[in-house]
Order: sequence, then C-alpha cells, then structure tokens
Amino acid sequence: MVKKKEVEQNRNIDSKDNGGQDKSNRIIFIYRIVVSIIMIISIILVYILNHYGESKEVDAMFNSNSISVGNSYNSNGIVDETLISNTTADTNTNDDGIHITSEENLKKLNDWKLMLVNYENTMPEDYIPPLSNIEDDRQFDSRAADSLIQMMLDMNSDGINHIWAQSTYRDPNKQGHLIEESIQEYLEEGKTQEEAEALTLRSIGEPYKSEHNIGLAVDFNDVNYAFESEPAFSWLMENAEKYGFILRYPADKEDITKIKYEPWHWRYVGPEYAKEINNLGMCLEEYIEYLKNN
Ligand SMILES: [Zn+2]
Repeated sequence: MVKKKEVEQNRNIDSKDNGGQDKSNRIIFIYRIVVSIIMIISIILVYILNHYGESKEVDAMFNSNSISVGNSYNSNGIVDETLISNTTADTNTNDDGIHITSEENLKKLNDWKLMLVNYENTMPEDYIPPLSNIEDDRQFDSRAADSLIQMMLDMNSDGINHIWAQSTYRDPNKQGHLIEESIQEYLEEGKTQEEAEALTLRSIGEPYKSEHNIGLAVDFNDVNYAFESEPAFSWLMENAEKYGFILRYPADKEDITKIKYEPWHWRYVGPEYAKEINNLGMCLEEYIEYLKNN
C-alpha cells in the first residue's frame, strides 16, 4: 500500500514536472516573441529619431538665418548684451534662397526712425544722435525736434495748454551715474547689493537700453497715470501719428515690450511708420518682426 502511494505520488510529481516543462517552454517562446517585437520597435524608433533630429537641425539652421536679420527676441527675457540692432539688417535670403525680407522692408529696418532700443537691444555705446534744443535745456533728435515742437504748438492751438515735455533726451553716461548714486543710497539705507540694484533699475532703467538715450522719446507732463484722463492724452491718441509719434508702451502690449503701460511716453518713428504701426495694431517690437518676415 505504501509503495502504491509512493508510485502515485511519483506519478503526480512527474506529471507536474511535465506540465512545468510545457509552461517554461511556452514562457521561453513568448519571451522570444516579446524580445523580437522590442527589437523591431527599437529599430523603428532609432530610425524615426535620427530622421527627426535631422529635420530639427535644418529648422535650427533656418531659424538662425532668419533671426540674424535685425533684432532677435529670446523668450526667457535674458538680455543679450551684444547689440543686435535693426541697423544690421543686410541680407534678405538664406543660403537655400528662402525668402525672408523684401528689399523694401530691409530699407525700412535700416531706417534710424525705427531704431529699436529695449530690454534686450542695447544701443551702440558710441551712438550720439544729432541733438537740437527744444524748450529750455531739453534736447531731442534734431531730425524729429521740429515735429515735436509743431505737435505741441498745434495742441495749444486746439486749446490744450496743459502740456509740456518733462523728459526728452537723456545722456546714457549721466544715466549710469544716476544709477550708481541710487544704488549707493539704497545700500546706505541697509539694503543688500541685489535689492539696491533691483530697486534702482525699477525706477531708472539701464543706460543704453532706453529710447530716451537715442533722443526719440518724450515723456509728457507729470509722467504719471493721471495723464491718461487729460485732454492732451485724447488729443495725442487721435493726432500724434500725423506728427510721427506713437504711444510706445500700450497697455495690451506689456508682454512684448516688457514695459508697464506708459500713457505719457511717446516715441517718434515718423508719420509713415506711425500710421502703419497704428493701422496694424502693433507695437514697435511687433512691427519690426513683421518687417523682417515680409
Ligand atoms: Zn519715457
């Protein structure tokens, strides 16, 4: 009896072993199929990635060509210290002959009236605009000074006498000096170097990065938001473009200009560009990009 049981047990074990072998065979078979599938997928992926990489490189080449014309804007807002001015525009096609900018627009991009100075476009440090005196000791680019004077005279003729040019041309060297003084004052108040610099740049701005340094910008009256509700502001909104001035930092363009809305700050670009910029509903940064791409 005992032997029978043992035999039966052995049989059971054998049959179990046989079943186990079948299973492991099946597992090996499935394993091989899975490995084959993974290999095929890997080969396809490697091919796709290589191909995609190539087309990315081509895109990058094209982009670097297209942004080399005039000003470039980096999305992270880091200031590019090297001057990339619209005055450097000198090409309108890339190596593949792909059209980028028309001859007509290239001429516009080189026009002094459209000189772009902002948070990432530093003016050439040796650039000094031709200057004329307007009102007392204030100066403006002589090529645009008459337009500013005429505009203010015509406002007076229309009954708007509460208007004056508070800030016009600013010497960037003096601006640098103002910044040093301000930082020093904040340091004396107990601020850290970092805090002192941040507070200073918030109110004064960096030299060579302000339109006031190229003599084409004017700040009217008290340089505050009350100006928006003055008759002078409404008049300017309606008429300034005829004299070649645009509202430089509109409320709806803060993301692009990186400057808070300034109803008091007006920029001379000449009547032709002023009208076109207003008709297109663009700010100067957008207009220059538009010229580069048409
Ligand atoms: Zn200003």
